[in-house]
This record gives sequence, structure tokens and C-alpha cells, in this order.
Amino acid sequence: MRISVTEACNLHCIYCRPEREDSLGDASGRRRSGWHRPDASELLTSEELEEIVGAAAALGIRKLKITGGEPLVRPDCADLIGRLRRIPGIEQVTLTTNGVLLSEFLPALREAGLDAVNLSLDTRNRRRYAAITGADALPAVLKGMEEALCSGLPVKINAVLQQDPRGDNEADWSELAALAKDLPLDVRFIEMMPIGSGAGFLTVSNVELLRKLRRCYPNLRPDGRKHGNGPAVYYRIPGFLGSIGFISAMSGRFCAGCNRIRLTASGVLKPCLCFGGTVDLKAILRTAHPKPRYILRQVIADSIREKPREHCFETPEQMSECAGMSTIGG
Ligand code: SAM
Repeated sequence: MRISVTEACNLHCIYCRPEREDSLGDASGRRRSGWHRPDASELLTSEELEEIVGAAAALGIRKLKITGGEPLVRPDCADLIGRLRRIPGIEQVTLTTNGVLLSEFLPALREAGLDAVNLSLDTRNRRRYAAITGADALPAVLKGMEEALCSGLPVKINAVLQQDPRGDNEADWSELAALAKDLPLDVRFIEMMPIGSGAGFLTVSNVELLRKLRRCYPNLRPDGRKHGNGPAVYYRIPGFLGSIGFISAMSGRFCAGCNRIRLTASGVLKPCLCFGGTVDLKAILRTAHPKPRYILRQVIADSIREKPREHCFETPEQMSECAGMSTIGG
């Protein structure tokens, strides 16, 4: 279960959440477009999240990924991770972060029992990093990455490539892949999906990327080892400490094996990225039902059973989700 703990983010990636809060309101106070910061009361509290995860664990959900927005901008993120990690039945809690605040929160996250971290990093070039994210934060991210590795936390790098004049990082794949040469981490390339602002960007196909990687490293071999629970396909390069992974939502259909379910920060359950969620768990928790955990279990189970057969990224007119990744919980 992927759990978004906030919609707020300290970066403004051009393909994810380019809008800045202070540029959204017009003189009448109305929002012109895009994202608005939800009131705190719209977001699930830690206690509500514990209640939902308790119900999910009773159904057999064992692994949680904490996401956002940027989860580390939620002040109680580390504490929350500790609380969820202690729920009976939960075997693994991992975090996906842009890494800007990772160094600061690492001790608290380790103390809380965090099992692993995914770090979003689209380029190792400081100028392009700033162009893509709107912040000169690459040194802070690399510091967080190194400290996480030194602390013994398993690290995966997630990179989204794009060929767009606004932040063209297509050629950065080789420098990103090279991270796995000297460091014991996995570098994964994620195809851009037509979600939110991402719909305005061209996907760099992982099929093409794999071809380029093969040309560069003819000894590249499929990695037989199991790396996680997700749809990534991994390869090894002799002499590399880490592996290279591909998450190909566009060129490779992995829907049949998708075991993900998402919970948005405002409490909506989403069985597929393409379709707007209709199950409002917050409403169930806040209507003082006599047996909330029982009802939660039922609606979560129903939602999983009704998970759509496959996404419809190729026919966007069928998509009922119009929010961006930072609102859905990427
Ligand atoms: N802030 C956290 C982070 O950076 O990992 C968690 C949220 S962020 C939305 C999660 C991931 O979604 C990032 O790696 C980002 O690059 C990716 N992402 C955002 N929009 C996307 C899109 N349209 N297609 C594919 N990945 C996308």
C-alpha cells in the first residue's frame, strides 16, 4: 500500500507539480489552476492512518511505501513511520523522497525503523537539476544519499527522463547508471506517464534506453535476484556494485502483476493510477461509525477486488484521474 502523507512538496518539478502555491491565487482569492494546499483538517491524521493501516494489515497487507508530495515536509513523518512500522502484521515500511531533507531526518528515520529509501534523482548535473526541480538542491540530495548508504539503509534511485527543452535530461542516463558502478544501490529508470503535468512531456522509452545501455555495456545481463515487490525489471553489469532497473508503465504493460493500492493524503483509496478514487476512508472514519475497522476492512477488500484490469494511458480520454502525481501520491 502506497500512502501519501502530504500533498505539499519543497520542489516544483516541471512534469510533476510546477505550480508554486504563492502564484496560484488571483486577487479574488480564487485559485487559477493546479494545486492548492489542502487545509490540515482535510488530511488524514496519524491516528487515522494507524486505523487504516491496522485494517489493511488485518487483510494481509504487509508492506507500506510512504510518499507524497514530499513526505519529509510533514513534520511528524519519522514519528508516523515508527507508529506504522509497529502495527502487527506490517513487515516493511519504506519511503520515497526527493532527498532534499534526507540528511536532516535520517537519524530519526533510522530510529523509527525505516527499512529502505527510494530517492528521486533525474540528473547528476547541478544546472539541469535546478531547471527540472526549481531548486539548487543537488548537493543536499547527494549528501542524503551518501549518508543513507553509510548508515546501512538500502537505497534505490528513481529517475524519470524527458526530452523537453525545459529540462532535457535524456542524455543523463549514462551518468545516472554509473552511480550503480561504485555504490551498492539500484538505479531505476521510470517512464514518464501522462499524469498531471507529465501529460505534456514525451516519454523516453525504456526499450530504447535498454538498447543504448546494451551498446555501452555488451555484458549486461538480466538480474535473476528478486529486488523488491514491484514491476521493475533488473539488469546487472559486470563490475557494478548495484543493478539497473526499468519501470516501464508505457512500453511494458505490467498491470496483470500490479499489487499496488494507493491512499491519498486526504484519505481516498485508489486501486489504479488512471482512475479517480471513489472510496473515501476519511469519511468512514469521521462519521463515528460504531465499527470503523470492520467497515474499513470491507471497503478496502472490495476496492482491491474491483481493481481495474489495466491502465488506459494510451487512451487518455478514458482516464478519470485528473490530479497530478504529487496529489495522488507518486
Ligand atoms: N517527493 C517524493 C519523491 O520525490 O520521491 C514522492 C512523490 S513524487 C510524486 C514520486 C515520484 O513520482 C518521483 O520519482 C517523480 O519523479 C515521479 N513522477 C512524478 N510525475 C510523474 C509522471 N508523470 N510519470 C512518471 N513518474 C512521475
